[in-house]
Order: sequence, then C-alpha cells, then structure tokens
Amino acid sequence: MKQYCSMNVKSKIIPIAEPLLGKEELHAVLTAVKSGWVSSKGAFICEFEKRFSAYCCRKYGIVTSNGTAALHLALTALGIGHGDEVIVPTLTFIATANAVRYTGAKPVFVDSESFSWGMDPRKVEAVITKRTKAIIPVHLYGYPCMIDEILKIARKHKLHIVEDAAEAHGAEYKGKKIGSFGSISCFSFYANKVITTGEGGICLTDDYKLAQRMRILRDHGMNLKKKYWFDMIGFNYRMTNMQAALGVAQLRRIGDFIRKKQEIKQVYNDLLQPLCRKGAIALHPELPLAKCVFWMYCILIEKKFGITRNKVMEKLNKAGIETRPLFYPIHTMKPYKTNGDFSIAEELAHKGINLPSSTTLTVSKIRYIAKVLKSLVK
Ligand SMILES: *Cc1c(COP(=O)(O)O)cnc(C)c1O
Repeated sequence: MKQYCSMNVKSKIIPIAEPLLGKEELHAVLTAVKSGWVSSKGAFICEFEKRFSAYCCRKYGIVTSNGTAALHLALTALGIGHGDEVIVPTLTFIATANAVRYTGAKPVFVDSESFSWGMDPRKVEAVITKRTKAIIPVHLYGYPCMIDEILKIARKHKLHIVEDAAEAHGAEYKGKKIGSFGSISCFSFYANKVITTGEGGICLTDDYKLAQRMRILRDHGMNLKKKYWFDMIGFNYRMTNMQAALGVAQLRRIGDFIRKKQEIKQVYNDLLQPLCRKGAIALHPELPLAKCVFWMYCILIEKKFGITRNKVMEKLNKAGIETRPLFYPIHTMKPYKTNGDFSIAEELAHKGINLPSSTTLTVSKIRYIAKVLKSLVK
C-alpha cells in the first residue's frame, strides 16, 4: 500500500495511484506557511474539519495525523479496550485490525460477500459474543458495503458501528453519504486516497460528547479549558495546519476527482467487456443503489484467462503497468492467523488485482492497459 516512494517517477511506468496536485494546493500550503501556523493550530484545521464533515453530512469532524490514528482514536473514545472484541472484515488493509489491537481489544474476522466484496452481514451475527463491542465495516476500494444490514445487526445487539471509510470519500448508499453511518466514521487522506493531505485522517460523528472526547484524546488527554491539566491518557494524533490547507484545496476538487474516476471505470468496463464475456476476467460488482467512487479499479483473473494472476501481474509490470494484488486476507497473516470459513475473501484475494486508477490516467493509457491484458489471454 505504501509503495508510493518506490514509484519510478521519471520512467514511463503507469502508476497504480498518484495524487493530482496543482496551483490551488500549492497556494493553500503557502498561505499556511506564510501565516506562521505550521503545526496543529491555525485556521485551516477548523476550516477543513467543518468542510469535510459538512460534505459527509456529519455534525463534527476531528482531523488526525493519519487514518489509522483516526480509527484508534474512535475506538478509544468509545471506551473499547482489553477484554473487548471488535468485528472486522478479513479482506481490508491491515490498519483496520491493527487499530483494534492497539486498544487491547481483539479483532474478530468476517468473510466477504460477493455483491460488493465488503464484510458479509450474514456471517456477522454468528461471531457476536458477550464481549463484542463494535463492528467496523469497510467500503473496500470505494465500493459501499452492505451497510444497511450491518446497521440492523448492530442495532439489534446494541453494538457500535465505526465505519472505515478510508477508501470511499464521496461514495453514497441509497442517497446517503458514506461516512454518515454509525457512531463514528473514519477516513484517511494518505497520498493515494481519493483526496489527500499527504498523511492525515479524520473522525466524523454527530455526537457532541464523543466529538469532545476525541478532541481531548487527540491532544494528550488535555483538558479543553484548563491547559496542561490531564484527566486521561491521550495521544498526539494532531494534523498540521499545512496538511489541513492541502485538504481544503483538495476537497474543492473532490467532485471533479470522482467524476474522473467514474469515467475511468466506464472506459475500463467497456474495453474489458470482451474478456468478461469470455469468462477470462470478472469485474468488481456494485451494490444496487450504491454510488461507488472507484478508489481502485479491480478485476478478477479467472481460470479461463489461461495464466495465473501472479503471471498476469508480472507481464503487466514488464509492459510498464503497475498493479497490486488485492489485500491479503488479514486472518492469513502471522499476527492474526485464524482458522475459519473465509472462502469468499480468500478466493477474491487469490484472483484479484488493482489496475492503475489515478485521476491522471488518460483514455489512451487505459486503451493500452486493456490491449496488453487482452494479448495475455491464452
Ligand atoms: C488507507 C487505509 C487506512 C489507514 O490509513 P492511513 O492514513 O494510511 O493510516 C485504514 N483503512 C483502510 C481500509 C485503508 O485503506
């Protein structure tokens, strides 16, 4: 995920994801620097929190140093810790599980469904115990998951929902913004996300008390009225004013970014239709009534393709096309090794690749990628 630095900027490699930064961003960051407010006080912090929470139809926004910190802050503010369990999908970026572990709680993994690749609500109820405190649904690669069903289960069992919306800025489900569901929602603004602040994240909530608690915890646990008085142990999870300035500028363009991503997806879909008809590949399905933002465009390499997924990636790489495998399911990796039925997630992870998905991608580059893919089918 964090391979951005190793990206060969000067070569002709088509990167998997790169940010689009322009004059507006430069101007905003310059303004922050010139103001002298370069750490976590300054006008852009407040402005970004207000604008992003309004964009997601939420009352309060608390910006953080990154998306993982946002998840940790959210879980801590909800009082989750040792002895508790939190349900997470196995097919997600490792941060979703790590944030749970940082609190001392145990992440409990759930398989994916095949309608959006999100966590399968039908398999959630089976893993709820007396220790379960929360569920973290993830909107994988910018595709809303079955959030209605998950909310229903959470309500029935009185569990918190912490949305991990780190890959789905601007996505919607049934006309409601992703990030507006559950007790708290968390986003990341890492360089390759839908919008970026370099590094950064945010927690959104409609609950004033939770918002205040997160503000205190973000700043070492310092009392909001009495400076240098600490009522609890907190963290330094603050974002800088320079990062927030970048965020304000990026947020102004989020509509354009999403439109561009939707165009990219449509061009890919049209060009790859013949491969789908042959059964050589399959596309990432979208839930009905979901507005997807296609953070990453994904395909599955099916048996009929004739060569393995890894071979396809290798050949694409040789042709100057950067790809990535889908996330390795977390339950298969050393820190979280778990047995159980995770067959859908394992199959998706085994077959899936992310294709270049940046807003900087041109139609001619997509044509080239599709042409190379077609030439590889045996
Ligand atoms: C990117 C990401 C995060 C973590 O964000 P960072 O800003 O990199 O800490 C968390 N969850 C998911 C699903 C992500 O994709």
